[in-house]
Amino acid sequence: MDLVDPFGRTIRDLRISVTDRCNFRCTYCMPEEGMQWVPRSEVLTFEEFERLGRIFVERFEVDGLRLTGGEPTVRAHLPVLVAKLAELRVPAGSSSPLAGQKPDLSITTNGATFRLLAHELREAGLDRVNISLDTLQRDRFQQMTRRDELVRVLDGIEAAKEAGFSPVKINAVVERGVNDDEILDLARFGRERGVEVRFIEFMPLDATGHWMNDKVVSQDEIVSAIAAEFPLEQVPARGAAPADRWRYLDGAGMIGVIPTVTKPFCGDCDRVRLTADGQFRTCLFATSEFDLRALMRAGASDDDLAMEIQRAVGTKWAGHQINQVNFIRPTRSMSQIGG
Ligand code: SAM
Ligand code: SF4
Repeated sequence: MDLVDPFGRTIRDLRISVTDRCNFRCTYCMPEEGMQWVPRSEVLTFEEFERLGRIFVERFEVDGLRLTGGEPTVRAHLPVLVAKLAELRVPAGSSSPLAGQKPDLSITTNGATFRLLAHELREAGLDRVNISLDTLQRDRFQQMTRRDELVRVLDGIEAAKEAGFSPVKINAVVERGVNDDEILDLARFGRERGVEVRFIEFMPLDATGHWMNDKVVSQDEIVSAIAAEFPLEQVPARGAAPADRWRYLDGAGMIGVIPTVTKPFCGDCDRVRLTADGQFRTCLFATSEFDLRALMRAGASDDDLAMEIQRAVGTKWAGHQINQVNFIRPTRSMSQIGG
């Protein structure tokens, strides 16, 4: 049965935050110190994630599961969870292109320890990897992430390719005055390494609250900066994917831009989110959550959980209001929600 929201959007993609903890402290995401972690007893177990994953995939025909966080690779034994999720099957009668098959399994990671896990995750059934990389300069990397890990992240990208992940994509948040002078260098890196760089507009989900509209580098600015050096043509039809994409005219690959702030794509959104502590959210910017953990731990049946999920999806709004005066920042920041 499809999970359809009040605006007729069918939900196909679930983002699962497996932990709110992280080995980095990126300035646009977390404070340097003082982050309040969810107590471990409140974080869902693998069995709980699997149970909810099964309801989404096998009952509601969700065909994409993305693991995120916090940093998903700091959760111990992550390949065990991937293997459990890889056993799920999208119903044979579904209209999904993956009907009868396992859902598409992907991860968003900072990549610092990816070499240690790449092979095992691949064997467990993970399909695709996005690695975050906002700068190629070691000093700046240290300033932006508060960790001196550029070399290991670059190695993590190579490890992902060696393990056979395809595509490997790079996520680069662009913040004005911080790394916007590196747009071209990052594009060049993608062309040379055969990875698709996806530039992300800076969103008001930083824990320190320093986001301001003029720190956002717009999709138009990003694309013009690259096209001035490497001619591009837009690839039509994004569908429900968050990134608009362009192809290099010389055949050297693609770039993507996620224009959450300047060109919201809410009308095509097919995503919902599960936080590490089992709260269900129908939008990254939602101001309310539905407590699936409490229901599960109070003995709810799968039918009860499915009903609560349907009730929540019934409240999914048309879109976020970032550019409106009535925009309310979510109380939880990106790493607590699961980006
Ligand atoms: N730790 C992993 C990582 O960094 O890839 C996964 C979680 S992280 C929250 C997911 C993505 O959100 C990353 O690509 C990160 O760069 C991005 N992100 C974090 N804070 C952001 C913000 N304020 N605006 C835009 N993107 C942000
Ligand atoms: Fe950690 Fe990812 Fe947030 Fe950086 S963006 S602090 S790596 S969760």
